[in-house]
Amino acid sequence: MSTDPILRLDGIVKRFGDFTALHGINLDITEGEFLTIVGPSGSGKSTLIRLLVGMDEVTSGEIRLRGKRIDQTPANERPTCMVFQSLALFPHMSVGQNIEFPLKIQGVPVTDRKARALELLETLRLPTSFYDKRINQCSGGEKQRVALARALAFDPEILFFDEPLSALDYRLRKTLEKELKDLHNRTGKTFVYITHSLEEAMVMSDRIAIMKEGRFEQIAVADEIYGAPVSRFVAEFMGEVNLFDVTGAAKTGLEAQNVEININGNAADLGLALNPGNPGTLMVRPEFVRFLPPGETADFIVAGKMHAEYALGSRIQYEVEAAGKMLTVEKLREDRFMGKPGDKVMLGFDGEAAHLILESPHGAD
Ligand code: ATP
Repeated sequence: MSTDPILRLDGIVKRFGDFTALHGINLDITEGEFLTIVGPSGSGKSTLIRLLVGMDEVTSGEIRLRGKRIDQTPANERPTCMVFQSLALFPHMSVGQNIEFPLKIQGVPVTDRKARALELLETLRLPTSFYDKRINQCSGGEKQRVALARALAFDPEILFFDEPLSALDYRLRKTLEKELKDLHNRTGKTFVYITHSLEEAMVMSDRIAIMKEGRFEQIAVADEIYGAPVSRFVAEFMGEVNLFDVTGAAKTGLEAQNVEININGNAADLGLALNPGNPGTLMVRPEFVRFLPPGETADFIVAGKMHAEYALGSRIQYEVEAAGKMLTVEKLREDRFMGKPGDKVMLGFDGEAAHLILESPHGAD
């Protein structure tokens, strides 16, 4: 993987009349990486990808592909980039004709393009007998694979994906997520993928960019986004989380505002202290919270009352009420905690599993 960016976005602004959809986006995409852009509906993901492939024009800013400006280049003259959209196949054509379509446009001879189509069927783990099959005789998952084979037939330097799996059922989506990741590894291509789905992003990506209201809130590897989010927005967007409003305190390093937390020692020793009086948010994911048996301790301890238990397949999720706030705990089924609603419980978590968000409570942006 080279370290020079294959694609550089520099101060990309997109306005629609008075409305600013993108507020100066900067991003370097590394050659060969799988980058996923995640964000809630309306955050600007599609707008951005449309600019990247040339379906729309930037209001200001620059897009460079291998150092060369492409933001003024029309879509059909950006041969290195293309979007893969799930159902953009030609239904009246065969699988083979669909895959060969880009090669036909480029004037590749019949025998060569057939050979390439058969090769791509194998790459996508479809039987070569599918070459003559009609698109409307293929299942949803098979169509996705054909669409991918066709995208690869263009031999683009970067593949852009706009929610390609969102219409599929859960099982098929899970299978194709892994296949896409595998395909990425095998082809070494640069993949830029947009989705609403945090899980999809976590499974497949090298890096994740979280978008909010036309800006990137955080760009990092999945583990960092999950374990060390920069804001409450990212923390909550990336799954279940317990967040405590805190302020810096001279004696203990931190003081909880909404729930009483007993801190063993000083939060500064755990690297989790704020300057006295400064607001912040202490975060811990549910799987790192323990039910403390009598006599057992932890860096942070919260007393609560069991509220409910939910079976989530291999995991069990518990809701525990502490000073009117609902906390979430998750355990593997084999580590199930035996408690009834109403039981008093002690929850504990350690400093290494917690993270301090240096942002005032209630998401002041
Ligand atoms: P979704 O996940 O729902 O597809 P998104 O993150 O892709 O959402 P965009 O489609 O990029 O969001 O839209 C970003 C914002 O820009 C939205 O507020 C949308 O209403 C606005 N927008 C997009 N296209 C246009 C347009 N052609 N004219 C005016 N506003 C637009």
